[in-house]
Amino acid sequence: MALFWPDMLLFVSLLILFVCVLAFNRITQTHKVYLAFHFVMMLWPFGQFMVNTTGYLHFQEAYIKLAFTALSLLGPGWLVFVFFLTGRAALLTASKTLLYLLPSLLCAAGVLWNPGNIFMTPQDGSYLHHEYGPFFWLLVVVEFLYFIIALLIMFHALKSVHSLNQRKQLAIAVIGIFVLTGFSVLDLLINVLLAPWLPVIPGMMSLGILLSDCCFVVAIYRYGMFDILSMAQRDIFSHMTMGIIVVDENGKVLEVNRGAAPFVHTAKGDVFEMEKFLSPLHTQGEVNEFLYKYRNNPQERMQTEITLADNMTRHVTIQISPVLDDRKSLIGRVITFHDVTELRKLVDEMNRKNEALHERNLELVTIQEELFRVNQKLEQMAITDGLTGCYNRRYLMQQLEHEVLLNMRYRIPFSVFLFDIDHFKQINDRHGHLVGDEVIKSTAEIVRDKLRRTDILARYGGEEFTIYLPHTGREQAELLAERIMYAINHNEVAAGSENVKITISMGIVTEDGDDIRFEDPKEYLREVFARADSALYKAKNGGRNRVVLAH
Ligand code: GH3
Ligand code: MG
Ligand code: MG
Repeated sequence: MALFWPDMLLFVSLLILFVCVLAFNRITQTHKVYLAFHFVMMLWPFGQFMVNTTGYLHFQEAYIKLAFTALSLLGPGWLVFVFFLTGRAALLTASKTLLYLLPSLLCAAGVLWNPGNIFMTPQDGSYLHHEYGPFFWLLVVVEFLYFIIALLIMFHALKSVHSLNQRKQLAIAVIGIFVLTGFSVLDLLINVLLAPWLPVIPGMMSLGILLSDCCFVVAIYRYGMFDILSMAQRDIFSHMTMGIIVVDENGKVLEVNRGAAPFVHTAKGDVFEMEKFLSPLHTQGEVNEFLYKYRNNPQERMQTEITLADNMTRHVTIQISPVLDDRKSLIGRVITFHDVTELRKLVDEMNRKNEALHERNLELVTIQEELFRVNQKLEQMAITDGLTGCYNRRYLMQQLEHEVLLNMRYRIPFSVFLFDIDHFKQINDRHGHLVGDEVIKSTAEIVRDKLRRTDILARYGGEEFTIYLPHTGREQAELLAERIMYAINHNEVAAGSENVKITISMGIVTEDGDDIRFEDPKEYLREVFARADSALYKAKNGGRNRVVLAH
């Protein structure tokens, strides 16, 4: 006895370790269910073997009860495992699991308690031979019921599963249940019912358990029952928002995910007809072309966008990808539906904003151009005289300050003319101010016509003008003054029925390049203009309509 306990303790420790690894390792829920189930299956042969290793009645009782408790858990174990295998794990809530387990737990309790030997009675003071009570038969019925329900679920799943791999997995699992059930029936027949007449064949049930477990192992390793990738793919397929339909080459729906429901009403086994699906839509242009390709070029990838108008308008892209076998012939198609309404809205919104921005930009460019023109005009206005278009006095003076510096530096000769219209008051008085204005304008035009591009004509005041002539010596100045006088004298300005003729008086200052000397250009210019003014004064006094050269 003393030697027995360390082994027992070690067995319990190993058992605890196994359960811990099982519970906390990063394996899938299906793995855990399988391993727990596997462990329970192991207990039957263990108990059956151990009962023969001892002569103590109490130990025998414990082993036999352990074996039968494991047996009573085998049925619900299978059932739960089948739920996982057929992808119905989500249906197993805690309360439902307890409900499924309840009959077997009651059986297990009955086995362990065995009140008044209702389950079994030892014979000849040993559990090696025992007689079964009514509770045993209840256990048998309950277990068979579990197996039958598990089988029904498997058959149902087999009908709706179209993936070849999954079908094979399920078929192997069905064989597993059949084997187990078959051996259970044989065991019951040979070793219980016909026991008085036939020799006992040991290990029948254990062999059934082993063979059915082998079926599991085949399913696991050959068909990747616990292949996390395919599980994840299945999970993604069923939970993704994009609608997916997989059809065979004849359009029969092999698989349809939940995401397809908002777009199309079809189920596995239906025939999906694209024409019928698209016919309520006013199909035109692009969609018609898509339909044509769908019918005639089934091996091509294609895509179109449709507008579904049920409760609200939805924009949906439909994409078709062919599934080809090794010989490149079509065996099916994957049809996806993707709601792009939000995307469309965003794109439309962006386009609208872009257009508005573009318009705003155009407006800004127009405003900028307008501003540029106004600025130019303002600049022009700031330096010119409104009536005649000549430069104004301020601009002329500014320019001259710079010019005379250059002239002094490079000894460049220049001339300044200052002229004034004779008896202008009379013109105003006789013909009115408007005619007076016309006369001023016309005079400016005539004079400007005679000048070089580098000369500057400026309105000096009322009807008084000045001309700056760079690179112009005395002779050239006199020649030009003569030409101007001639042109003015031959000019007539229309004033109603009459023509107005005018004359001008002019004072000229000519500076030889070598004689230009000054400190302050402003002061120098004042002096130049004073000289021109006094020459003009002399011209007026001398009888008008003449030119006087300053000294
Ligand atoms: P003078 O021969 O001595 O120069 O005689 P005048 O009458 O021309 O005398 P003055 O030059 O002093 O007179 C200038 C007149 O020109 C005074 C003013 O009424 C008139 N005037 C000045 N500016 C303008 C203008 O822009 N338009 C019009 N119509 N008349 C102007
Ligand atoms: Mg005047
Ligand atoms: Mg005058």
